Amino acid sequence: MKAQAGPADIQRVCQRIEALGFKAHIIPGEQRTAIGITGNSGPIDAAEFEDLPNVAEAIRVSKPYKLVSRETKPGNTIVSVNGVPVGGEKIVLCGGPCSVESRAQILESARAVKAGSGQLLRGGAYKPRTSPYSFQGLGEEGLRYLAEARDQTGLGIVTEAIDVETFDLVESYADCVQIGARNMQNFSLLRRAGRSRKPVLLKRGISATLEEFLMAAEYILSEGNYNVILCERGVRTFADHTRNTLDLSVVPAVQSLSHLPIIVDPSHGTGKRDKVLPMSLAAIASGASGLIVEMHPTPERALSDGYQSLDPVQFAELADECRAIAELLASRRRVTAEA
Ligand code: PEP
Ligand code: MN
Repeated sequence: MKAQAGPADIQRVCQRIEALGFKAHIIPGEQRTAIGITGNSGPIDAAEFEDLPNVAEAIRVSKPYKLVSRETKPGNTIVSVNGVPVGGEKIVLCGGPCSVESRAQILESARAVKAGSGQLLRGGAYKPRTSPYSFQGLGEEGLRYLAEARDQTGLGIVTEAIDVETFDLVESYADCVQIGARNMQNFSLLRRAGRSRKPVLLKRGISATLEEFLMAAEYILSEGNYNVILCERGVRTFADHTRNTLDLSVVPAVQSLSHLPIIVDPSHGTGKRDKVLPMSLAAIASGASGLIVEMHPTPERALSDGYQSLDPVQFAELADECRAIAELLASRRRVTAEA
């Protein structure tokens, strides 16, 4: 739509789409609103829309992922998580333990995230574990502790939903619902996330191609939830010096194909504490919109992923150095833009 298009113009286009038997998706943007069409099996005549008031253009999307595509919406999507914009000019830092282990542990973690200038708190109450005998999370008790941590610190909370059965509960506490790597192609869970009003953090599958990753996001958008944040968290390769191989080249690749923001998880992406800082700096330099980092008050006592968790001091150092890189790049770009 043209920048001056009002709600009545947008409604008129949606009505025309629905009259044709298709589904209309209003995707707001900073400057212009895009309206995606799904449900059509073949091409639609652009002339159906081009004559309507304040339609800028009708574009045929050539990609299999339509709503996620930059062809549908050229401007960047900014997703607000508890008031924190993800995908805007400033980088966002989300920190916290792999799992919520106790009230004291998550409250202490939240205070450390806040002190280290993080803006969002992470922590799983439902954990997808490789072994059925490993700690599976505290469930709703963990969600209650997260909510208390939010009340005390004001930090928005990011927490994982592992199945459709517990989605309602997780959604009712979370500010952003995480879909984990192992569930990236759990299509019923993706559809459920698409019917949620909460933003979704979608992690890349352990062996997902870029196209599979974007198609997974498309499932969520196709159900009407356009607030999706993508997350690169490493993929499985032959390399065994790390737990996963952090594929930072996917950051610019996503940004050229999609309007959705992408952040990086250097913790699962490397699996080793000493690799987290350098790869965080590289992620910010690559243009990622932020980081989700595992941090534990006492990593050596963590019930999951302690070997890749930072302590609070290391988290604060990471935040400092990442912001320095982000500010340096932003100021150099401002100078170039002014020149
Ligand atoms: C997590 O964030 O703790 C997690 C399990 O991540 P992933 O799904 O990327 O393995
Ligand atoms: Mn973890």
